[in-house]
Amino acid sequence: MEKVIVVGSGLAGSEAAIYLANKGYEVDLIEMRPKYQTGAHKTSYPAELVCSNSLGSSDILQASGMLKKEAMMLGSFLFFAAYNNSVPSGNSLSIDRNTFCVEVDNKIKSLKNINAVNDKYDKINPDIPTIIATGPLTDRNLCEDIKIKFNEEEFHFYDAIAPIVEKDSIDFSKAFYASRWDKGSADYINCPMNKEEYEKFYDFLINAQCAPLKEFEASYFEGCMPVEVMAKRGVDTLRFGPMKPVGLFDKRFPTEFKKNQFYAVVQLRQDDKIASLYNLVGFQTNLKWGEQKKMLSLIPGLENAQITRYGVMHANTFINSPKILNKHLQTKKYENIFFAGQLTGVEGYCESISTGLFAAINMDRFLKNKPLIELNSKTVLGALIDYITYEHHKKFQPVNASWGIVDEIETDKKIKDKKLKNEMRSKRAIECIEKVLNIINE
Ligand SMILES: Cc1cc2nc3c(=O)[nH]c(=O)nc-3n(C[C@H](O)[C@H](O)[C@H](O)COP(=O)(O)OP(=O)(O)OC[C@H]3O[C@@H](n4cnc5c(N)ncnc54)[C@H](O)[C@@H]3O)c2cc1C
Repeated sequence: MEKVIVVGSGLAGSEAAIYLANKGYEVDLIEMRPKYQTGAHKTSYPAELVCSNSLGSSDILQASGMLKKEAMMLGSFLFFAAYNNSVPSGNSLSIDRNTFCVEVDNKIKSLKNINAVNDKYDKINPDIPTIIATGPLTDRNLCEDIKIKFNEEEFHFYDAIAPIVEKDSIDFSKAFYASRWDKGSADYINCPMNKEEYEKFYDFLINAQCAPLKEFEASYFEGCMPVEVMAKRGVDTLRFGPMKPVGLFDKRFPTEFKKNQFYAVVQLRQDDKIASLYNLVGFQTNLKWGEQKKMLSLIPGLENAQITRYGVMHANTFINSPKILNKHLQTKKYENIFFAGQLTGVEGYCESISTGLFAAINMDRFLKNKPLIELNSKTVLGALIDYITYEHHKKFQPVNASWGIVDEIETDKKIKDKKLKNEMRSKRAIECIEKVLNIINE
């Protein structure tokens, strides 16, 4: 059987290696730990969870739960192991991270056609079928090689990201659409504040609790400016920065009102193709998640906003997937080379596992000269891949599973009942995956 290289035995790489080994390939699984450390991982085990032990919801009415279901239908080993090692946590899947890693490790060791190599992988060889799954803490040398091979001017790094909210949860009796000085179309959602509201918001922000930063992240911290850090520079810093109110008018009010400037404005920018998600412009933050909720509750219009992605701050490397990858997670430039996991711009444990599986499914089909699988955006996994390979993002940023990126239900009438809508979406996604499984099993 042909030889395949999988680089990185994190979540995506372990999943990919196990899938391909089960298909009979000779798999070289190259992992640099424990010889070289990432700064976040603590063990020498594969599939280590670097932070929380939660893999999110198990409920298929939630996008994260549906993603697990889709991956399990497609043959995921890691989700199977996760459920084997789950700990009680209501409707979500939380796991004992140690026994989970051991189970994945045992599985890898039991597959005699996986050759575990403990070394750094520095240079991609386009002649050998390879899945790169080296994660957000990909070693520098490999980053340099990716830069050269894919003509990337700047390899993507980000230090802090801003929260993303669901448009449906914004209160438009307070928020309004406009662009600054009415230039171009009214693309932004604006949440205006008066002086009193701003001062309350400011007081909260300068006293809010931040998530702890690891030492290796400290250098990144200095290089960027989370909103809470900016606030500490002075009471008006935000009003001259991301909360600048000038040139923003709510056309629903009489003209005279325009003369009265708002005191501060929080702007939200569209985040997905279908305009269901909006990110808070300039609101990158390292506040604890509970504090982020409180922060939003002090912004008029966002009091009850549903956060689909919280702001986070850590070193993160992700490739320019819209330019580099096709919808099979194969690089456009080298047909032997696939990418998977967080390095592709998906964000989160489940997203990384699922893309690892998907890259492996397509690597198998590629090596067997079968047509590669493409998932549509009716499935959560398909929507994630669609998002990261969509070529027209103004600024490509990582994404995690949410119904906001999944295609709307085709219907003449708007479905207001959220539960019903999610039931229809889940049912539709399962049907899509069943069809794909028929193709895979042909
Ligand atoms: C500090 C931090 C906290 C996070 N917290 C959460 C969280 O709470 N919840 C969540 O859902 N997600 C979290 N994430 C995101 C998380 O990293 C991903 O969800 C997931 O681990 C990524 O899976 P992966 O397989 O892509 O990468 P990883 O699991 O990181 O695996 C990549 C592997 O590649 C190896 N590697 C790197 N470069 C090389 C090389 N050149 N040669 C050989 N091996 C190499 C690494 O050692 C690592 O084992 C966090 C990320 C970070 C950095």
